[in-house]
Amino acid sequence: MEVTVRGSFCAVPRLVAKLRFAAVTLEIILLLPLCFEAGNAIVVENQHEWHNHERTDQKISSHSCIHDQILEQRRRPGHKVYLVTPQVYQESSIPKPLHRKGRALLGLSDSAHQQKDAKQPIRIYLNYDAVGHSPDRDCRNVGEIVKLGEPPVNSLPDSPSCNAHGDPPVFSDCWYNCTLDDISGEDKQHRLRKALGQTVDWFRRALAVEPVRGNLRLSGYSACGQDGGVQLPREYVEDGVADADLVLLVTTRPTTGNTLAWAVACERDQWGRAIAGHVNVAPRHLTAEAETLLSATLVHEVMHVLGFDPHAFAHFRDDRKRRRGQVTEQVMDEKLGRAVTRVVLPRVVMHSRFHYGAFSENFTGLELEDGGGRGTSGSHWEKRLLMNEIMTGSVDTRSVVSKMTLALLEDSGWYEANYSMADRLDWGRNQGTEFVTSRCDQWKGAYHCNTTQFSGCTYNREAEGYCPIVSYSGDLPQWARYFPQSNKGGQSSLADYCTYYVAYSDGSCTDANSARPPDRMLGEVRGSSSRCMASSLVRTGFVRGSMTQGNGCYQHRCVNNSLEVAVDGIWKVCPDAGGPIRFPGFNGELICPAYHELCSTSSARVVGQCPNSCSFNGDCVDGKCRCFLGFRGHDCSKRSCPGNCSGRGRCLRNGVCQCQDRYTGVDCSTEVCDEQCSLHGGVCDNGKCEFRCSDYAGYTCQNSSSLLSSLSVCQDVLEVDKLGQQHCAPSEPSILQQLEEVVVMPNYHRLFPGGARKLINNLFNKHYDCDTAAKKLACWHGLAL
Ligand SMILES: [Zn+2]
Repeated sequence: MEVTVRGSFCAVPRLVAKLRFAAVTLEIILLLPLCFEAGNAIVVENQHEWHNHERTDQKISSHSCIHDQILEQRRRPGHKVYLVTPQVYQESSIPKPLHRKGRALLGLSDSAHQQKDAKQPIRIYLNYDAVGHSPDRDCRNVGEIVKLGEPPVNSLPDSPSCNAHGDPPVFSDCWYNCTLDDISGEDKQHRLRKALGQTVDWFRRALAVEPVRGNLRLSGYSACGQDGGVQLPREYVEDGVADADLVLLVTTRPTTGNTLAWAVACERDQWGRAIAGHVNVAPRHLTAEAETLLSATLVHEVMHVLGFDPHAFAHFRDDRKRRRGQVTEQVMDEKLGRAVTRVVLPRVVMHSRFHYGAFSENFTGLELEDGGGRGTSGSHWEKRLLMNEIMTGSVDTRSVVSKMTLALLEDSGWYEANYSMADRLDWGRNQGTEFVTSRCDQWKGAYHCNTTQFSGCTYNREAEGYCPIVSYSGDLPQWARYFPQSNKGGQSSLADYCTYYVAYSDGSCTDANSARPPDRMLGEVRGSSSRCMASSLVRTGFVRGSMTQGNGCYQHRCVNNSLEVAVDGIWKVCPDAGGPIRFPGFNGELICPAYHELCSTSSARVVGQCPNSCSFNGDCVDGKCRCFLGFRGHDCSKRSCPGNCSGRGRCLRNGVCQCQDRYTGVDCSTEVCDEQCSLHGGVCDNGKCEFRCSDYAGYTCQNSSSLLSSLSVCQDVLEVDKLGQQHCAPSEPSILQQLEEVVVMPNYHRLFPGGARKLINNLFNKHYDCDTAAKKLACWHGLAL
């Protein structure tokens, strides 16, 4: 059942304004015809067919992300996930005996000495060399047939053929027939550069990272990215890239449906942070109209490269800079009736608590999208809980970046987030632990509706809305059955088929320009201070229609700790807890919202809130702060040197540890790795270089070592598989040899110039801890590759 309706933008005007006064029962569908015209199919009550109108001129109003599917594809045998290329971050990480040479080679000067671990705004370098230069993949002429994914080589170039307008988009290996829209001409390339430039700017303000010293080094032994990827420019591999912490290689290949762009990381540093990625933007969507949507989409996609990605999760670091034991938990949720995956990272949990007002122990983590129960996933927030957050599976022009997303990136241990770059997310705000832990048919107020018969106010009272309920041709999953009929549910599978009020296209209370005119009979006013409220008001002498439940847009203000509303210019004070009030000249009553709903900006009223919100340096549970490592006090407002800097650092007066060389982390308890170790491609964990299948490009689990017989690196150990355990081995015999020739050797020559072959042999075959490294090459079971 592939039903994702991008109905939020579906043009659904409240064509029933007039009907209010007519004695008409609103059993009929409120919204059908216009919806179909917008190219978005909504099947409302009593409709049994799912119509999928494919039109070439449809206006795309949202972006459907295919990151999960791309990850799925990258797990195929022979596909590369990513490479590990170590970077230089501080002088102490360069091995002592080779200190001078290494530094000279990497272009470091003595004056470059900086405070250790000091984070600087992230420098993302964009490379457009590959735009228009991907053979078989870029559209250069109308009628040209190009590849999407990996269609069978010997298949006719048009079978299987891609459905350019599939809705929802179908991600598959197919042949794509190029049209004029798919060719990236000058104007499109100009838009591309502008949009990506703004994205990079945004991230520079939002994230800080420990800057790479000297040039960013890339191995580039294989193409970077997806669908054949992009070959790194030769000079990037030989000389590195100056002034960069991350390189994004840009392409403009076609995509299907409303997928505007996609992006993946392809190289990581020794800490697991992405240092190279591939971003593809479809020329079809590089239009003036799509500019705002494209901006949001690019922020979303670059987030995937930076760390919102299950592969990246496996490398996340805690405050000590050690690999995190747990990033997500998978549990069978009894209340929801299904298995869920939750992010349990400390700052994500903390910011979620402050957002939802969920200060109970029962809240353990923030749910990831399961795509309505379809297959694996893990790259997005659950839409049911975060709705228009930018990292949910679909993006539109109202998408916002929440603190939770910035917190996830900060919890990687690679970045420091600037939370002032976060937008206000309204969905779920201060709704309490119940909201996050219970089924959506138990939600209160405007978060839940169960009949199409009445209109209502949207969750944030900024618009009047309708309650879209779809009758599907098949049954919904057991856990998504909120109605007696097993095929009835909300319009979005990403939002777990929950039913809630969706704004009419002309229903805004706050934006007078986009909304229909206010109804004078009801005393309505539209504008920035107006909000949607339940009401049965009607001017004396007139009769309101047959609707028992009505609503309208009325002005509000917060004065002297009270909520006041106005009808026809007359202001009245509302009861603190909300409730009905009357106005002269009107029959019926207006139902005031509670004071805190419209006037309170903090979650101070929510049960279990902590002093000073724990200064956002600690988790808040049942009114008590649990400070993060390095913070103390009842509100976590004071810094402290944890464990007195483990005896490996100096406690500065501001309570921050200044670690000795070779040590890092908030308490200086973690050892940094030697360059030699990570040059082999391992990832550093507390002074040790770890090797895992999942960290390696093209590696799979092997029981036999025979594939590696011709390998010189760690040959002895790998050939004699003493313990008979599985270990990591390249899926193709040639890959590790390639890796050795193209990555390991050049990297060594770079760091150990002047015939270092002997040194390498010594390091890898004898004196270097090869045994340990090889044993650690054992399959890492957490991430099946
Ligand atoms: Zn995505």
